[in-house]
Amino acid sequence: MSISAEQLAFDQQHIWHPYSSMINPPPTYPVASAKGVRLTLDDGRELIDGMASWWSVIHGYNHPVLNAAAHQQIDTMPHVMFGGLTHEPAIELSRKLVAMAPGALEKVFLADSGSVAVEVALKMAIQYWHARGRPQKHKLLTIRNGYHGDTFGAMSVCDPVTGMHEIFSGMLPQQFFAPAPQVKFDQPWDDSDIAELRTLLETHNDKIAALILEPIVQGAGGMRFYSPEYLKQARALCTQYDVLLIADEIATGFGRSGKLFACEHAGIEPDILCLGKAITGGYMTLAATLTTAHIGETISAGGAGCFMHGPTFMGNPLACAVANASLGLLQEMDWQAQVQRIERGLKAGLAPAAELESVADVRCLGAIGVIEMKEPVNTAEIQTYFIDRGLWLRPFGKLVYVMPPYVMSDEDLAQLTSGMVDSIRAYRG
Ligand code: PMP
Repeated sequence: MSISAEQLAFDQQHIWHPYSSMINPPPTYPVASAKGVRLTLDDGRELIDGMASWWSVIHGYNHPVLNAAAHQQIDTMPHVMFGGLTHEPAIELSRKLVAMAPGALEKVFLADSGSVAVEVALKMAIQYWHARGRPQKHKLLTIRNGYHGDTFGAMSVCDPVTGMHEIFSGMLPQQFFAPAPQVKFDQPWDDSDIAELRTLLETHNDKIAALILEPIVQGAGGMRFYSPEYLKQARALCTQYDVLLIADEIATGFGRSGKLFACEHAGIEPDILCLGKAITGGYMTLAATLTTAHIGETISAGGAGCFMHGPTFMGNPLACAVANASLGLLQEMDWQAQVQRIERGLKAGLAPAAELESVADVRCLGAIGVIEMKEPVNTAEIQTYFIDRGLWLRPFGKLVYVMPPYVMSDEDLAQLTSGMVDSIRAYRG
């Protein structure tokens, strides 16, 4: 089946793609199928996928185990409401999440996307303090360069500048922002890095429900890797000042940073954890927000008597069944060895980019590789260089980055990294 010129024109004229224009739509490449780490375009060209569909496709596309789980569930019960009903896929998934998650996170809310999981986390924190008779603790604290999603609560804690939501700032709740951590992942610690966060907590803890951050890896807000010591101290400060810690591991969860959860780099446990993206191996949308027994029970003992959230597609059985299969695969494979292998391949393969005049920095952590350019790139233009070399990448701003599926072979990875370096050389020198 191939897409006609008329269908493509309809797409351009009528369909919004992520962050796209209706007057001057960026090019979109029709994709016909995907298998393993390759996308096949409608015209037959094959591309090695460096994006894992935005962090999510960790096992590769069209995986037989995930396909089988989806087929089996769709023939049994693709969906049923979660209010007043329950089912095995949700129970087994939640059991797995509780077992895998760091610390004592044992109450699970199955949300329908990453942004919703963040909204749920924020509401949990606010409802927790409300239930404890401290409703004035309803503000949030976060760090700059963060990204937590596109819905209103999530937007309010995204970086006001790099977080892509500046236009809405006038109507977003005003939150507290600390500077982004500056000490990099493997640099020696400098205590001044956390001084302002400490001051904000000291001064405003009576108004702050929670600190929300992406542990170790700040994704869409800059692809930055910061010191585990920052996270360790932030955890200690939250405990000291009676502020909850929300870890948004929607991008980093399930092995991407080299640990199952990025919090493990610092050996800390958040009070609330957001998961998404890779949870279904990238098959469909599902996310989860986990919290402790204490928080879950405090919220439930409050005036409302329940947690105030319950979307139509909560706990969708089809998504839960595929997530169960995906987490099963992750547990069966030696994911850590795979991620370490990819990290070595990325470090070796991207190193030559550091020599290029147009490149400001090259950094890798786990299965994440980043080439930061000195100037922003023209995404549509640089993409043509990648496509010519058989690669699928989607840079933004100054960042040309990859997060391949964990199953990518060394040969494909070498082709991906050398193609990236060649493309950048051809594009900018
Ligand atoms: N948090 C983080 C850290 C993310 O990277 C994203 C997605 N880029 C989100 C939240 C929002 O997830 P979703 O796009 O599924 O709503």
